Amino acid sequence: MTEITQSRKTTRKGDTLSSLSGHAHNYIGALTVPGFEDGPIPLLSFILKVLDGEHRHMVRQHLECFLYFDFQMRTPEMDEFIEHLKDDPGLLVYAIDSMIATMRVMADMWIDSGKSGTDRDVDTPADRNVEDTLPKRPCSLFLMIDRILLRNYPPRTKMRRDGSLEIENTYPRFDSKMLQWGHKTALEEHGKRWAAFRFSQLLDSPYSRHISRCDYCKSYFAYRRARLRMVKHGVFCPDCEGQGSMKRTKSSRTNRLDTAAKRWIDWESSNVEPVPLEWVAEEVNKSHGTEFRRRWVSQHLEEIQERVEALRNAKG
Ligand SMILES: [Zn+2]
Repeated sequence: MTEITQSRKTTRKGDTLSSLSGHAHNYIGALTVPGFEDGPIPLLSFILKVLDGEHRHMVRQHLECFLYFDFQMRTPEMDEFIEHLKDDPGLLVYAIDSMIATMRVMADMWIDSGKSGTDRDVDTPADRNVEDTLPKRPCSLFLMIDRILLRNYPPRTKMRRDGSLEIENTYPRFDSKMLQWGHKTALEEHGKRWAAFRFSQLLDSPYSRHISRCDYCKSYFAYRRARLRMVKHGVFCPDCEGQGSMKRTKSSRTNRLDTAAKRWIDWESSNVEPVPLEWVAEEVNKSHGTEFRRRWVSQHLEEIQERVEALRNAKG
């Protein structure tokens, strides 16, 4: 037993060494990071909680958790900054606000990149990309993430006990050089970088196409599975699904009535006999997979005839 305990204390083969202690790290595992405790997909639920703006305390804890590590690298300007933060913990609000705001912009750009340019109800998550510059946006999502994060985010090289190297995907450090622009700017920049870091992790995960935004209440939510097929009649969160099905029913009903009206015109243009209602029903069934009888046509006769008129007028 003693042997096992001892061997656990020594540096294991794969462990990299800490710049602070010179010995193996105690990693901050994903499980202990504030905001990453729950949900089947911790990163996705963390991002949704940042986006909803109702978990500011969690965002604060998350930022503080990593600042604690940054603050172990002491410099005179860092010391002065830490004193300021101690005097006025409210300063961190700048970083919290900026992390939430930046995350929302990135989520919107990402989600909107899958929407049709002509019909906002048409959404194809498979088309989402970071390259296109969307209307009313100054740049693409890639350029935004590049400017905020990737350019200033060199991978960190770590070393193991045996001298071999490992490239570590480190988290964004607090940039003390930004302090020359004032505490507010430095903290806002820090919040932005964290938003870009977490969002780029989502983009690089299998869950990048799970995230969506409700067309009705504008809240962000995630599908249980990635939705890859095109949605034609708007995207709705579970709470607003009723809105979506109302819209879908209305639109498929509209399409059926349109088909009925078109067939009506076809019949009249090549027959002298009155339009057989049973035949119209069969034509609608052929196009829409429905099982209507003449009763459906007679029930909607007025609407069909209005459409016939409208179509004839449109043709002039
Ligand atoms: Zn909704």
